[in-house]
Order: sequence, then C-alpha cells, then structure tokens
Amino acid sequence: MTASLEGRTAVVTGAAGGLGQAIAERFAAEGANVAVADKAKLDATRGLVEQHGRRFFGSSCDVSDPAQVAQFAAAVRSELGSVDIVVNNAAIAKKVSFDDLTFDEWLRFFAINVHGYFLTAKAFLEDLKRSRAGRVINMTSTSVWLGGPAFTPYVSAKGAINGFTNSLATDLGTYGITVNGIAPSLVRTPATSAIHQDEGFGRVVAMQALKREQTPQDVAGVAAFLASDAGAFITGQIMVVDGGLTRR
Ligand code: NAD
Repeated sequence: MTASLEGRTAVVTGAAGGLGQAIAERFAAEGANVAVADKAKLDATRGLVEQHGRRFFGSSCDVSDPAQVAQFAAAVRSELGSVDIVVNNAAIAKKVSFDDLTFDEWLRFFAINVHGYFLTAKAFLEDLKRSRAGRVINMTSTSVWLGGPAFTPYVSAKGAINGFTNSLATDLGTYGITVNGIAPSLVRTPATSAIHQDEGFGRVVAMQALKREQTPQDVAGVAAFLASDAGAFITGQIMVVDGGLTRR
C-alpha cells in the first residue's frame, strides 16, 4: 500500500532527531511539507526534508509553553500555510525511582509529555478542521502495559496520552479528523541510548516475535500510513509497533 501525502502540510514536534526526525523525513518522502518544533538544533532535519524537494520550517519552541506554541503555530501558518497533520512526538524520558521523584519533576514530565500534546493539538485545531484529511498522531509507548523500573512519571504520562487519544478521537470525529496513537517498544534513539545499554536492547529483541531491533523507520512507516488516505477510517486506536513484544 502506498501512502501519499502529496500537497499536505505536517507538524512534527520534537523532530530534531530520533523517531520524530524519521517521521519528518518519511512524510517529506511521501510529498508533505514539514514544520518542526524542538528545543534542539534542526539543521539535520531540514536537510533530510529538503532533500526530498519539500519545504521545511523549523523553530526553537518549548512545547510545554503555551505562548511559544501559539507563536510557533502562527509562524507555521505564515511560512507553510494551513496544517493537515499534527504529530505529537516531543517528550522526555528518563529513569527516576519513586523514592527520588520530586513533585517538580513529576510536573515537568506532565508539562512536556501531556500538556505539550494538548497545546499543539489545540493550536492547530482550526487548520485540522479546514483540512480534507485532518490527522492527529500521538506518540505513546508499550510501557503503558509493560511498565518498567523507575519509569513511573513517564509511564503515567503515556497512560494519560492513551486516554487523550481515545477521547479526542470522539470529539474531533465530528469534524472528520482522525486521532490515533503509535506505541513503539524500544527503538535506539538519543533518548533510549542514554537510558539503556546494549544488553537492554538485546533482552527486548529476544522477547519479540521478530528477532531484530526496531528501527525509527518501522515507526515512521506507520505514521505515514495513518496520515495517508489509506488510514482515513482508523481513529481512536493505539497502533502497537513492537515486533510482537506484547502480542496484545
Ligand atoms: P528523543 O529524545 O530522541 O527525541 C525527542 C525530541 O523531543 C528531542 O529532539 C528533544 O529535543 C525534543 N524535546 C524534548 N522536550 C521538548 C520540549 N519541551 N519542547 C520541544 N521539544 C522537546 O526521543 P525518541 O526516542 O525519538 O522518542 C520520540 C517519541 O516516541 C516520544 O514521545 C517517546 O516517548 C516515544 N517513544 C519512544 C520509544 C523509543 O524506544 N525510542 C519507545 C516508545 C515511545
């Protein structure tokens, strides 16, 4: 099945590297112009998008800050026009034991990993309503079902995103906008390389039905499918992309 995003404009948050960058590149390969909000430098992502002949707009933006997100949305509209696809991807992940977890840290996880998704979806709502193929894609995680030691704030925030996805699909379905989540298990990215050693990746591969590491491209392909016309009647779902780790 070929996913085509010709003529669409996508926003991908947190696409300076990792999964967001792979999604941005795949969307461009499928014909979309791409806007990215990230706190990190975006030169590499710009290069990947532009090499497919698509337009890129990148801005330094903290997705947990309402004013910065509103400013980003206005800039995207003036640079690339109205937006069809929003991918909420920017998030933080780190191990912190419940013993050491402070309330400030707990709030920071929710500010970025939950409020950032709300702010971005809300900032582009009128664009999505105008689109003939409005899409919201929320990056979540299999950790919601599998848990993991010292991941309580991360897993709790992802659980909130699963609820957000389910409920927003109902609310935005009225406008013909689909809302779905993608739940990878473990992919080697800047975030996970900082948390896990090679043995950790190996342990996960051994438990999967498919005996290889998951790649960012495995995730990007599913995002492109959900964003395309082929995914038009899928909404309120969490697409588990984990090589058969959970087999739910
Ligand atoms: P990553 O850390 O490599 O990339 C996240 C990006 O978000 C970074 O570029 C970072 O600068 C940006 N970011 C962080 N805080 C921000 C903020 N406040 N405002 C704007 N940008 C900010 O992460 P990744 O591994 O590529 O993960 C991407 C998404 O996929 C996340 O939502 C993550 O929870 C989810 N996920 C990843 C894995 C995995 O194994 N990599 C597994 C399950 C879910």
